[in-house]
Order: sequence, then structure tokens, then C-alpha cells
Amino acid sequence: MEENRISYHESVRRAYRRIKEHGITNIWDRYEAQGLGGDPDKRCPFCMGGMRCDLCSNGPCRADAAKDKRGVCGITADGMAMRMMALRNVLGASTYHYHTEQTVKTLRATAMRKTPFSIAEPGKLREFAARLGVDVSGSDAEVALRLCDFCEADFNRKADQPSLIVEALSTPDRRDVWKKLGMFPGGIYGEMMRVTSSCLTNVDGYYASLAVKAMRMGIAMAYQSQLVNEYCQDVLFGIPRPHPMRVNLGVLDPDYVNALPNGHEPFLGFAMIQLARRPEWQEKARAAGAKGLRVIASIETGQEMIQRWTMDEAFHGFVGNWIMQEAVLSSGCVDLFAADMNCSMPIDPIYAERYRFKLIPVSDLVAFEGITERLDYEPESAEEQAARLLEMAIENFKERRKLVEPMTGQPAGEAVVGFSTESILEALGGTLDPLLDAIKEGTVRGVAGLVSCTTLRDTGQDVHSVAVAKELIGRDILVLSMGCGNAAMQLSGLCLPEAAELAGPGLRSMCQKMAIPPVLSYGTCTDTGRLADLLAAVSSALGGVPIPDLPVVAVAPEYMEQKATIDAVFALALGLYTYVNPVPTVTGAPRLVELLTSGCRDLTGGQLHLEKDPVEAAENMLAHIEEKRKGLGI
Ligand code: SF4
Ligand code: SF4
Repeated sequence: MEENRISYHESVRRAYRRIKEHGITNIWDRYEAQGLGGDPDKRCPFCMGGMRCDLCSNGPCRADAAKDKRGVCGITADGMAMRMMALRNVLGASTYHYHTEQTVKTLRATAMRKTPFSIAEPGKLREFAARLGVDVSGSDAEVALRLCDFCEADFNRKADQPSLIVEALSTPDRRDVWKKLGMFPGGIYGEMMRVTSSCLTNVDGYYASLAVKAMRMGIAMAYQSQLVNEYCQDVLFGIPRPHPMRVNLGVLDPDYVNALPNGHEPFLGFAMIQLARRPEWQEKARAAGAKGLRVIASIETGQEMIQRWTMDEAFHGFVGNWIMQEAVLSSGCVDLFAADMNCSMPIDPIYAERYRFKLIPVSDLVAFEGITERLDYEPESAEEQAARLLEMAIENFKERRKLVEPMTGQPAGEAVVGFSTESILEALGGTLDPLLDAIKEGTVRGVAGLVSCTTLRDTGQDVHSVAVAKELIGRDILVLSMGCGNAAMQLSGLCLPEAAELAGPGLRSMCQKMAIPPVLSYGTCTDTGRLADLLAAVSSALGGVPIPDLPVVAVAPEYMEQKATIDAVFALALGLYTYVNPVPTVTGAPRLVELLTSGCRDLTGGQLHLEKDPVEAAENMLAHIEEKRKGLGI
């Protein structure tokens, strides 16, 4: 593949060349091999348009809207495309919520003093509990246990029992709209069951009805799964606050024992850092011949960790997002890859064998062909499990160092990470006013919430994300970045204050005055809920301006998997202009496309926008922001 189809980052392009020399299967070659007729991006037109279905034995079926050709059961192309989208949404909601369950379990066990963790943010615990109407009298542990009980009870409310969490955390305008449209959700489990059951053959074949059900589940997911998850993780591990962090493949040094917790759940990663910071563990690594022991942050587990904890010798830096996983694993520097829920590729065992590292699933969801050793996370055993993982890494070091030629000379840059609602308020002097004033004056035109992944569709890793972000900041639009797309921003230098040079004059002056970057690193894709809460705070600071009327857009320049699709569906329910790329597999469904791109605007205020060109995309987002500014009279 051409160089620019590999990655935005030279470090990854270098790693690709080495993997090729080693003759190892890799994501770039596998992507190309899926193409048709020599075009890596060309695939079956029915699949690309979403007009195919294999749910029952009468299929697989193909549909054609222009000819009213339907599936054997009679479902239309619109119904097929939306049904598959709704099922993707269930997968996304379910994995988000699995993480939340583990977090609540960890908070409960911590309150009972059964984990190596403690309640790091008692103030946030009480504030969040109070927002939910939970009794905040008594000790921190008592409040935490009540909060866990309350959240779990809400998750378990039936679909026809309105969620108290959504009631407490959403804005009045959204509540009214959702209730009017029948989109106000019950508990997340009930909502997931409702959508899944609706997708059975011959149950709900109506695309509009399925779209409303998916949005309703998205609302439950954002507040119950994402917000509860992130806020409880803040309570346990600290509220994100800005600090510098080393990034890119150069953080891997072959002479150290390198342990990489990977996935989404940071529990064992934090437990490993706590141990690695102790002199006796550094001594164990030195006794094995290494210079020391390092925990290295990777993908979204990494984002969860770096946004909360500062770097030092034991917690050395962050490598990047999921597409560069094989670049990381082939570096010859990895001793342990501990795979928690999500984001560890099925190919990893081949890399573990070739590059001699321990690949250990640490979540009961994760499994690899050929890997039998595992250590499923249990909060009560977190310290012993982390110790066992670090021992494995140390034991691995000698053989890895003897047998694998490491890749050296890779770059390491820096990024400022750790922005959150609280830290933005702190940076602004305790109130949102400076930012709101800058928006009112027009210095900053608006805000883009970039929640994205990274994909090889149409461009190389992070190429389109970086291009879109640069176009946005160049138009004086402040970017808050989340998810794997956040790593694109961090590695490309956009999360440094110096990147203000690339911003338009207004945003540049604000960034320089406050010494902040034009792209604020706002965490993981799970932080989408946190962003919704920030928008609620902005709406309330402006005297209750409805969210769809704010000069704000949601941006997913390189969406990839099912979690991203439920994020986009939630953004539509929240009433946001939502830019999505690559073009999702719905284009063969004209009425669904119409609903998502314009019909939805009359319902929730949200609209989907598709555009491959980064300049055009940014122009369109600016036009939307300017329209909203005009509506607000600013
Ligand atoms: S559910 Fe309908 S469209 Fe899908 S395979 Fe069966 S008959 Fe075909
Ligand atoms: S959903 Fe996207 S951003 Fe989140 S982990 Fe998956 S690839 Fe990364």
C-alpha cells in the first residue's frame, strides 16, 4: 500500500516496513486483500450500502430500494440497513456497560476495603451522589455503597420504568423532547433487550421505529453506562487534570521490562503502576538484567490511565491507538500485553509468538485462539493479579532480549492530557465565563466534540482525523478530543500549546492567553457522556439554551466499530450536528439516509452529515456553527 495509506505517523510507517521485512501478517496488507479489483476500498456493493441480511434461513437476502426488491420476509432496504445498525448499537452499548459494571463492582469492593485502591475524590463522590438524589450523610464508604446500589437498581429498571439517572443528569429541554418522542429510556439492560428483540426476523422491520429505539438505547447508554462509569472512575482514580505525557512508539525502550495493559478497563493497569512505583519491584526487574520496570499505556485503557495519573519512571508514557497495535507488538520491546475488554486484536497470538511476549487475557470477555493462560480481573484480587502480571513480564524479559532484535530510534513526543469539566473550569478560573465570553465575542466561533476511532477506510491511520482537526482549529473552532481519535491528536502534536500556531487568530489568542492547546485531550470514547454533561453545564450557564441551539458539533472523522455507532446515535438524540466519516453502510437505504441527515432535525434537532473531503467537512461544520450563533444573536 502507498505510504499515506499506512499512517499519518512516520513511526508507524517505519514499523510497517519492518513487519513487511519480517514477512508477518499485518492490518494494512489484510485491509488491501479485502479489496476488489485492485481497489483496497472496494467491497460488495450490497454490503457497502447496507442492503443485505442473513438473519434467517431464507437468506442471505439482498435488497434494492430503486426496484422495491425486498428480503424474502418482505423487509425493505431501509429496514435491513437500520436493523443491522441497531444490532451494532446493541454491541456498542453492551460493551460500554460491561465496563461500567466492572467499575461499579470495583467501587463497591473499594468502599469495603477489599481492593488496593481508595476513594481518591471524596468531593466528587458526594457531589455526583447528590446530583442523583442519593443520601450523602455518613462516611465516604457509606455514600459510595449507596451510590453503587442506586446505579445498579437503575440499570435494572425495566424498559417501561423511566431511568432516574437520565432524569437527574439530562437537561430539561432534552427530557421534554425525549418524553414527547417516546425516547425517554428505562434501564440499560431493558433497553438493550428491547432493541435486540425488535431486530428478530418478523418483529420490527420499520426503519423509523428501529431508529427511535436505537436512539433511546443510546440515551440510556450515555448517562447510565458512560457517565456513571467515568465519574465512578474519577472517584476511584482521580479527576483528569492537565499534565504532560510522553507519547508515540519511542516510549518503548527494549532495555526495560515493559508491561502494557491494553483495552478499556484501567483497573489492573493502575494496580500495576502502584506496584511498579515501589523500589522492590524495580529491583526485581534489575535483578533480571533490565534497567527497570515500566508500565506503558496503550489504546483506551491507556487513555483512561494517562488522563488521571502523571508520568514518571514507572509509568512512562502512551503508545497510541488500536490500528498501530501490531507496530507496538512488533517493536521487540513488549514483555506483557494484558488484554482487558475491547481492542486486543485476534491476530495478537501470532505476534506474541514471533516477538516473544506474554499475551494474557484479563477479562472474562476476552479470548484468543491458542492462548490458554488467563487471569480474569476480580477487584478483590487486583493486587495479587497485578503482581502476577508484573512477574510474568519480568520473567519474559531475558528471553525476549536474547531472541528478538528490537526496533530502535522511534520518536517520542509529548502531549498535554487530562482535560475534564472540572479541569477546564479550574483552567478558566472556576467558571465557564471566559470560554463563554470568547464564544459570545466570536473569538472562538464554537466547539467541536471529536469522538472518533481510527480506520484504514479511504485513508491511512489518523490521516483524515488530523486533517479535519487542523481545518477546525484553523476556523477558530475549539476541539475537545476523545477516543482513539484522541491519540491521533496527541501523537500529531495538536495537544500541545504550541499547536495554537495552527489555529485561527481568535482561538490562537485565547489558547496563548491561557496556555492551553487548541485541541483539548478529553479522554476516551467513554467520555462522550462526560462531554454531554459539559454541554449541559454550558446550556445551564447560558440560562437554559437548548442543546441543539448551541454552536457545537460532534465529529467522528474516522469512526470504526460498534461503540462509535452508538455514540453517533446518541449524538443525534442529543440534538447535535454529527459529522461522520467514512460513509456508514446505509447508502442503499434512501429513506433511512433522509431520516438521519434531515428528518431527524425536526425531531431531536440532530442531523448526520457525511463528507469525505476535510476542507468541505470543516466548512459545513462552520456554517452550522454560524447558523447557531445567528440564532443566539451572537
Ligand atoms: S430476515 Fe428477512 S431479509 Fe433477513 S435473511 Fe431472513 S428473510 Fe432475508
Ligand atoms: S470505539 Fe473507536 S475510539 Fe473507542 S476504542 Fe473502539 S476504536 Fe477506539
